[in-house]
Amino acid sequence: MTQNFTGSFTQQDPIPEAGIEAAIAVLRHGRLHRYNTAEGEISETALLEQEYAAYVGAKYCLAVASGGYAMATALRALGVGHGDKVLSNAFTLAPVPGAIAAVGAKPIFVGVTEQLTIDLDDLEAKIDQADVLLLSHMRGHICDMERLMAICDGAGVKVVEDCAHTMGSAWKDVASGRSGHIGCYSCQTYKHVNSGEGGFLVTDDPVLAAKSVMMSGSYMLFERHLAAPDPSVFAQIKYETPNISGRMDNLRAAILRPQIADIATQCARWNDRYYALEAGLRDTPGMQVIERPEVETIVGSSIQFLLLDWSDDSIRDVVSRCGARGVELKWFGAPEPVAFTSKYDSWTYADPQPMPKSDRILHGIVDMRVPLTFSIEDCDLIAQIIRAEVSAVFQAQG
Ligand SMILES: *Cc1c(COP(=O)(O)O)cnc(C)c1O
Repeated sequence: MTQNFTGSFTQQDPIPEAGIEAAIAVLRHGRLHRYNTAEGEISETALLEQEYAAYVGAKYCLAVASGGYAMATALRALGVGHGDKVLSNAFTLAPVPGAIAAVGAKPIFVGVTEQLTIDLDDLEAKIDQADVLLLSHMRGHICDMERLMAICDGAGVKVVEDCAHTMGSAWKDVASGRSGHIGCYSCQTYKHVNSGEGGFLVTDDPVLAAKSVMMSGSYMLFERHLAAPDPSVFAQIKYETPNISGRMDNLRAAILRPQIADIATQCARWNDRYYALEAGLRDTPGMQVIERPEVETIVGSSIQFLLLDWSDDSIRDVVSRCGARGVELKWFGAPEPVAFTSKYDSWTYADPQPMPKSDRILHGIVDMRVPLTFSIEDCDLIAQIIRAEVSAVFQAQG
């Protein structure tokens, strides 16, 4: 009997009750703007920043309107401006080259390996072409961070980490976002915490932190932050730093605080599902699972596999056969961008140069979200379906 999957790939966990209660309290008092506080009150946003800084072990944390805003702010704080070049991943999501374009700069794309991480040999070859690397831990895959930092430090290249898919992850016990100069995170619904929209920027550098706070739209109210540097640091930069409004608000912060407190539990739940899927997919003929290094602490909120050197038609066939059985796969290699997926060569504003080695890998990447609303049994069934359909198409290819 062939069994189909009938669950939803887009249904999230509900917001924790504590978050709902806190959000209702904010709605009742009406002080949603982060600097709108009653006498003696500390805003939800300021508390959230303090708690997130403690969670990742950063000196400074700023909560902002989105992950994309955090990345553009990080680039601005590092002085990236019009006409500059920024190194970045060829395999990433559109908001990453978009953040570079937002400051008038141009990405120099660096290739992808079969581990779906940045190609460090290609990075080494291109390292003298820019002063900043916007490193995307795309789909949660973390490269050898020690080698990456050695390459970048050796060339004086500053590193901004895009941790939209790695909140809760680590490389050799260093939290993702804490190896580079600035770490950026997203709190958007499809990431690891959910406030609809939102983001964080963390750093240990007081000047980068102060500039980021000013840019986010603090006016001269920066002393109301609990995870920002001393006012003396703001004194150095407050007149020369523009306000490029992009604050977090107290309603979102109220929703997020209990989620940050609970993130380790959620990450463990993701990994239970991820490893069930991985076990079910391993050794499928024609398919390559992505082996995760022992020193990488993963958060399996999505899973990828490679159909390397398959034809367009065969990959489309797998996606449509799985789709017919209720399993939503995304093909990153599709010639035309679909929904969230796109490739570096569709970002034509960035003048992408051909990357044949990466093209071969990108062409074969198939991706699946892992919502926490799936049970382990759901994951077992989904893996069975994918295995059966990939095997069938592979055998038919001969
Ligand atoms: C979602 C995402 C972002 C941007 O986050 P937003 O909060 O949606 O702006 C950045 N990078 C990657 C890899 C993402 O998936």
